[in-house]
Amino acid sequence: MELNDMKLLYEGKSKSVYDSGDSDTLILRFRDSATAGNGAKKAELDGKGKLNAAISAIIYDYLSENGIETHLEKMIDDVTALVKRVEIVSVEVIVRNIAAGSFSKRYGVPEGTPLKNTVLEFCMKSDEYGDPMMNDSQITAIGLATQAELDEMRSAALRVDSLLSELFDKCGITLADYKLEFGRFHGRLILADEISPDSCRLWDKSTGKKLDKDRFRRDLGDVLGSYREVLGRLQNAR
Ligand code: 5GP
Repeated sequence: MELNDMKLLYEGKSKSVYDSGDSDTLILRFRDSATAGNGAKKAELDGKGKLNAAISAIIYDYLSENGIETHLEKMIDDVTALVKRVEIVSVEVIVRNIAAGSFSKRYGVPEGTPLKNTVLEFCMKSDEYGDPMMNDSQITAIGLATQAELDEMRSAALRVDSLLSELFDKCGITLADYKLEFGRFHGRLILADEISPDSCRLWDKSTGKKLDKDRFRRDLGDVLGSYREVLGRLQNAR
């Protein structure tokens, strides 16, 4: 699809947002850029955009078939999606089933420890401040979201978690943790952004092999091969 004539509205770290010419939609293009450590580490991984676009589309189709409203309207081509023009809530929701990453570091819980309950964390969506964790009263105090929105994001995240855990289980993959973003659209809160190996920790159930962006963050190699593996298993499971 020809994007030269389209107005670029926003360039994120791995996706670009274009005007669709319609007030209710936007065009989202998945790029090959990979970043880690809040942009400190950067690379172009040839084909990553296509893999993440396909993976996220399968997941969003599955969630919407199961009653979760998402911003995805349709894929336009293999790296380009037509999405609802939401107002992004500046609060990221982190969902954890197994200890890993910053949770392991912060609380001294070894990576891979199963958690007795699903952990939900809210973080401020801010590159400038390094996405700091926030509690409800901090979020409502500075007006990032209302308490009703936080309550709704919590209950939606738990529904998403049981659906996604079931889907990845069928793929022989452990869904350790991931990040969700929500957007406001005509008075409703809907799932926005993407769900892909860039935003999830996905571990092969039998070997424990990491199949996600930790391969890039931790220089483990075979980043794209692992993303391809996730896509193949999702295609077989659907
Ligand atoms: P952690 O807090 O352990 O660094 O991340 C928890 C989970 O959320 C991981 O699966 C990680 O990929 C995802 N995550 C956290 N923050 C971000 C973010 O700003 N962007 C993306 N793409 N994923 C994130």
